[in-house]
Order: sequence, then C-alpha cells, then structure tokens
Amino acid sequence: MTDKFETHEHDVLVIGAGGAGLRAAIEALGQGARVGVVCKSLLGKAHTVMAEGGIAAAMCNVDAADDWRTHFRDTMRGGKLLNNWRMAQLHAQEAPDRVRELERWGALFDRTQEGQILQRAFGGHTFKRLCHVGDRTGLEMIRTLQDHGVQMGFDVYMECTVARLLKEGARVAGALAYWREQGRFVLFKAKAVVIATGGIGKAWRVTSNSWEYTGDGMALAYEAGAELMDMEFVQFHPTGMVWPPGVQGLLVTEAVRGEGGVLRNQRGERFMEKYDAKKMELATRDVVARAIYTEVREGRGTEHGGAFLDISHKPAEYVKRKLPSMYHQFKELADVDITAGPMEVGPTCHYMMGGIRVEAETAQTSLPGLFAAGEAAAGLHGANRLGGNSLSDLLVFGRRAGLAAAQYAKSAAAPAIASADVEAAERAALEPFQRGEGENPYTLHRDLQVLMQNLVGIFRTKEDLEEALGELEKLKSRCARVSVEGSRLFNPGWHLALELQSMLTIAEAVTKSAQMREESRGAHSRIDFPKTDAAWGKKNILVQREGSAMTLREQATAALPPELEQILAEEK
Ligand SMILES: Cc1cc2nc3c(=O)[nH]c(=O)nc-3n(C[C@H](O)[C@H](O)[C@H](O)COP(=O)(O)OP(=O)(O)OC[C@H]3O[C@@H](n4cnc5c(N)ncnc54)[C@H](O)[C@@H]3O)c2cc1C
Repeated sequence: MTDKFETHEHDVLVIGAGGAGLRAAIEALGQGARVGVVCKSLLGKAHTVMAEGGIAAAMCNVDAADDWRTHFRDTMRGGKLLNNWRMAQLHAQEAPDRVRELERWGALFDRTQEGQILQRAFGGHTFKRLCHVGDRTGLEMIRTLQDHGVQMGFDVYMECTVARLLKEGARVAGALAYWREQGRFVLFKAKAVVIATGGIGKAWRVTSNSWEYTGDGMALAYEAGAELMDMEFVQFHPTGMVWPPGVQGLLVTEAVRGEGGVLRNQRGERFMEKYDAKKMELATRDVVARAIYTEVREGRGTEHGGAFLDISHKPAEYVKRKLPSMYHQFKELADVDITAGPMEVGPTCHYMMGGIRVEAETAQTSLPGLFAAGEAAAGLHGANRLGGNSLSDLLVFGRRAGLAAAQYAKSAAAPAIASADVEAAERAALEPFQRGEGENPYTLHRDLQVLMQNLVGIFRTKEDLEEALGELEKLKSRCARVSVEGSRLFNPGWHLALELQSMLTIAEAVTKSAQMREESRGAHSRIDFPKTDAAWGKKNILVQREGSAMTLREQATAALPPELEQILAEEK
C-alpha cells in the first residue's frame, strides 16, 4: 500500500526530543518497547536546552523546612487553583526523585558546601527550591537525558517534521512527516504516540521562544480530535531584553531576581512595592509582568520601553559565576556590563500553560493511543506557571507518558493505516507548491505576530478579542492561498507555510478561550473583567474540533480530597 513512502515502525513513537520527549523515550525503552524519537531540529537543540534558572523540586538541601506539601501548595496557588490537583500532587511528590535520577545519570549540579545539590530562590516558591547548573540548567538536562537515552538505544529521526497524525478508526496509529533537508515524506507506524513538541510562542511578536515553537503538537492533536484545555493562559515572562531591537524578547532569566536583582523604573523607584510589597521582585510572573507593563504604560518606563533590573550591588565575581550566560548575553548583544550597571527589561511571551488535555496518572489524551507531556500538555500549571516547574514537569510527566505509552503498546495490535489517509496528508502538505502566485508565508507570519501581540497580549478586552477573531479569519483565508517557490529541497518557506496552519489554529483556540473567560485570573487579564470570579475559578475551558468548527465548552474542575484542601488552607 504505502510502499512509495520510507516507512518505520515502532511500539512507541515520541514526537519531540526536549526534556519531556527524551524522558518519555527512556522510560518506554526501559519497558522493553521499540522506541523512535522524531524531532524537527537537531538532537540536542530542543528548546529545553535554553532553560536557565533551574528545576523546582523540594529536595530540602538549602531550606530544611521545605517538603512536597509546600511545593504542591505553591504550585496550586501560583496557578490560581485551576490546576489539575492530582498532577500538582504527583509533580511535587515525584520531582525530587526525578532530579536525583538525573544526577545518577551524570548531571553535574551546582553544590552546597556539604556537597548536596544547591537550590536557589524563584518567584512564587516559598523556599529555595531550584536545582541548577549556573544559568545553563537546560543544557545539562538535555545533555544527560540524551547521553542516557542514546546509550539505551532509541532510534532518532532528526530534522524531520511531523505534519499529520494518522489514525486507525479512533486510535492514533502513526504519523506522516517530512525530512526538512530533502523534503521527502516518511511514514511512521506506531502502537502508541507521545506528543512532546513544546509551545506556541512564535505566534507573538516579542517572544523568548525559539523557531520551533509553532504549536505543532497541539494542532496535530486537535486535528486528530483530541481536546485542548486552558488555552487562554499564555505566560508573559516579566523580563526579556528590550534593546537592541534585534534581540527584543530574548529571556533574562528569573535567576537574576532569584539571586537578588532589583527592579526600578525610570525615576529610580523600586515599584514592586506597589504591586506586591511582600514578595517584591519574587512575586509570581503574572504579577511582575503586569507591573512592568503598567509602569511603562503610565510613562515611568525606560528609554526603550522597559524597566531597570539591577544585580550590580553583588560582587562582580559572584554575578559572573551565578549568571554566566546573562553576563555574556548583555555584554555581547547590548554592550552592557551587568556587574557594573542595570539591564533594561520588559515582558516577553514565554510559556503556554494550556495545551493538550491529559489524564494525570498516564498522560493519556482523550484519544486512544495518544499521550502528551511537557509544554504541549495542559493541567499542571493552571492559570500561571511558577518558574522551575516546567523542567520538573518534563521529568515527572515525561516519565509517566513513556511508561503508560509502552504499557498501552504491549496490548495494542500492530497499526494498520489506510493508504488513502497517508496520500491525503501528503497532498495537503504539498498544496503550497500548487498555488502559483499567492501569499508570502513570511508576511503572513509577521501579520499574525503583530495581531497576537497587540490584541491578545498581557491585557485583553472584549473589543480587542472580537477584532482579533475577525482578523484571524482573514489570516486563515490568506493562509489557504499561501504559495511557495522552488523545490522541496531544504525550503524554509514551505516549512513555515505548514507551521502557519498550526499557529493559526492554536491562536484561534487562545483567542476564543480568552473571550469566553470573563474574569481576570493568573496570566489572563481582562481589563473589562478585572476581578477574579469564584464561579470561573471552578471551571476549565476545553477546545475541540467538530467537523471544521472549533467548539468550546466549560468543564468543572475536580474537587480536591480533604487532605489536600487542608494543605492548601495552611499558611506558610
Ligand atoms: C529562554 C528560556 C528559559 C527557560 N528557563 C526555564 C527554567 O529555568 N526552568 C524551567 O522550569 N523552565 C524554563 N523554561 C521553560 C522550559 O524550558 C520549557 O517549557 C521546556 O523546556 C519545554 O520542554 P518540552 O520537552 O516540552 O519541549 P521542547 O524542549 O521545546 O522540545 C520540543 C521538541 O519537539 C520537536 N518538535 C516540535 N514540533 C515538531 C514537529 N512538528 N515534528 C517533529 N518534532 C517537533 C522539537 O524539535 C523539539 O525537539 C525556559 C524557557 C525559555 C524559552
């Protein structure tokens, strides 16, 4: 049937080679599954490699009073109680073991005087909790997982982009992908598929995210019929670079504030006193981002439209040791010596709390055979993620997804995919070549980014969201006319044309969810509904495809068991 395609068959196919994908692959291999890992960039270059500040886990190496209960409470409070409580519980309980395991596999963390893994303070965490390697924690994590996984023996397909999930009846049974270099298609058959493709930040103009973040995995799952959840919650990190323009949005790690960095406005005022006098610079990200945005909007911003972040009161050697990447980033890109003076920073689109809805224990989606973990999945972080809770999320739920996928695969029949489905997916992917003169994908991408930045940003209104939906409809029509020139041999314009479809789908899900939630909570701020609403505090918004229509519905959050209610009620 599908002889014309290069074909590979696995028990478990993992899409994505970041922390979540690699951890899932390792676990599935440990279960004896034949595992394939496919990623659209080079192995080792996934977005996780950019993570700086650390992994949150209640190891209690620096603050003995910490425990999983406090981590659970911080995560739930940070997420404004919209989190899937069971995920938050599992995450807090299992993160320390996952960090110790990473260490056993070779990760070299910074150390306390006693030789234990060193932990630093971060916004929203009651105790010093972030295990770190200077400000290059993601690099160490990827290096370790990759070494371990490759030794265990998974097959890697890199620079290979998945364009569509393929099904056998209701069950997900594989995927069609293309090699980015040659443009040839490749068919993957699998008994179980794990999506670990990360987020969608490239749909906004000012972003800390890399080119990979085009929401592919969320869109693949949505198109296949899976549910998305919490899509209105997009995290704007308070501190991205604002100058020079070429690096606008590049992340300035929260570790700068964790190590004692202070925020000031143009007048020299330490403005966080007005917004959260207790936690100051270590308030949660949603609070700090809104504070900086408000200072700028009200005319107290810096020359380039941001705030000053200053760590120069610490000894220069300390700053260089604790924040080596930040030191070099500012020196090389902005000609600023952060040991001698302040940085200019402003909010940048950073992280997607929403994503594919999964079960807490198994990371299974609403489709049989399909699992999801990492930033592509929803639930753990609710309305706002605490810094450091993503890397621990990848380890805890990457492992759970790999385990459950391998177990599912053990009892699943060999996948059979209809050739008509594969050929339809191939035809759809090649359409941009058939259209002759049409829309330029780069222009369309820029227009989408400007639209999302201006109308679906930190502060939202009914009018802006309505306008955004109207504009998105126009962009969708334009996207149907996108054309690309040249051959399929490494053709980034063609790749972008396909990624645009994912970005537009997910942008629509974000905008419609933001329109539906008529309150302000966590990262979702409605100027027309500035308060939290108790009724909305008990509801998640689910998004699903029905035919060609995107439908939304509310779903009540699950009630917490009394012992967890009690933990939440305790003050710390
Ligand atoms: C600058 C920066 C610093 C950060 N620092 C921290 C931190 O200190 N602590 C913390 O907890 N969090 C941090 N975060 C967030 C955290 O890094 C991410 O949320 C996390 O790494 C996401 O991991 P992931 O495994 O879900 O996806 P990723 O690491 O992004 O991996 C996604 C994988 O999917 C692949 N992929 C995507 N689409 C396709 C497709 N269509 N076909 C095939 N493959 C595909 C990609 O190639 C990649 O291999 C930071 C984020 C940024 C941007």
